[in-house]
Amino acid sequence: MDFEFSVKEQDIIQDVREFLRSESTPELLEESHHLGHIYGGTEGRKFIKKFAANGWLVPDWPKEYGGLGSSAMLTFAIKEEMAMAAVPIIFVAAHMAGPTIMHFASDEMKEKWLLPIARGEVEFALGYTEPQAGSDLSSLEIHAADSGDHFIVNGGKSFNTHSHVADYHWLATITDPEAKRYQGMSMMIVDLKSPGIEIRPMITMAGWQTNEVFYNDVVVPKNHLVGEINQGFYYLMSALDFERMFPLAAYERIFNEIVSYTKDTSVAGQPLSKQPLIRQKLAQLKIELEANKLLFFRLAHIIDKGQIPNYQSSMQKLFATETAQHITQAGMEILGYHGLLKKGSRHAVLEGLIEQSYRTSIVETIYAGTSEVQRNIIALRGLKLPTK
Ligand SMILES: Cc1cc2nc3c(=O)[nH]c(=O)nc-3n(C[C@H](O)[C@H](O)[C@H](O)COP(=O)(O)OP(=O)(O)OC[C@H]3O[C@@H](n4cnc5c(N)ncnc54)[C@H](O)[C@@H]3O)c2cc1C
Repeated sequence: MDFEFSVKEQDIIQDVREFLRSESTPELLEESHHLGHIYGGTEGRKFIKKFAANGWLVPDWPKEYGGLGSSAMLTFAIKEEMAMAAVPIIFVAAHMAGPTIMHFASDEMKEKWLLPIARGEVEFALGYTEPQAGSDLSSLEIHAADSGDHFIVNGGKSFNTHSHVADYHWLATITDPEAKRYQGMSMMIVDLKSPGIEIRPMITMAGWQTNEVFYNDVVVPKNHLVGEINQGFYYLMSALDFERMFPLAAYERIFNEIVSYTKDTSVAGQPLSKQPLIRQKLAQLKIELEANKLLFFRLAHIIDKGQIPNYQSSMQKLFATETAQHITQAGMEILGYHGLLKKGSRHAVLEGLIEQSYRTSIVETIYAGTSEVQRNIIALRGLKLPTK
């Protein structure tokens, strides 16, 4: 199956491509690389506000909320263009929290948040994981006590990536400690500049920053509660389904670089591209990239039918992130010792792209749920196998 876009959609994709080509400054690309392609840096904000003014950050949102009222297929195609261009591609507010607010929050909350999100004016940080609660998010300990017209939040989070550049925390917190599993959690939006919040950096092996976030008697107004109180676990699961939609073009770009390298580089008088093992490996990766495209655009198709993809998101996230690792592993094998060298090293090739992306790709199968967790979801919800 080939994906056909209407003439109007093709024109928009072409305009996006032109914009990305003309507006991506070296400063933006450097910052984006440094931040691990998350949104919230100074250059990224300048760029995305201009980008979003065209409705391109959330094209499938209704026009009243800052979108173009277009298909999710177009949205997904634009995400791929952004990933290929190496600009920020991870947007918590626009692509994870926003759709969840649209589905579950009150009209008042939609009015307050959706337009600023669509315009790229605010960014959120995902506030799920805690030291004892990663894969099992029903084990949260952070809690929000009811105090009249506000909550008082105490506890801590770990690996909360955007927190040092975002404006608000998309916080999962316990609001009823006595409730049964899954039933005492709520989602709230917390101003990260609130008194009592402390953010401490954790540097990843890829060199970019994630964070611990500590809450010490932090006051959160009640109108920052998302949807119903104690229903947060279900909203969080839905936000995770939106998070597990992984544009792979950033790794496709790396794959293309590897293919060009094998054509341009000779060993013992013969281009690497003529070596049977390398050809086999590259052909296999090309199949995986194409298969991922089908899984990725299938998610858009499900959204266009008015549904929220569920185990299908897990399938795509798992397949895409494992393909990402296959690409960087193949890059390491093909480049040999050159692949180990960092950007700036005397004998580095492809500007150290492979060693950097190899380190970056490790985390892809961990955040937004590990591959083991995705397989459990597919077994349980997709195949309806019994719980263990
Ligand atoms: C760089 C980075 C950035 C991150 N960014 C964010 C962020 O912005 N916001 C946020 O909230 N979180 C973030 N995370 C956290 C991430 O979502 C968790 O690390 C992930 O969900 C795994 O949780 P854990 O680390 O506690 O591992 P654990 O849950 O302790 O898992 C350890 C191992 O056990 C396996 N395992 C666990 N349960 C099962 C099971 N039921 N069946 C089979 N195997 C199982 C896992 O697959 C894993 O291999 C980030 C993590 C990293 C590393």
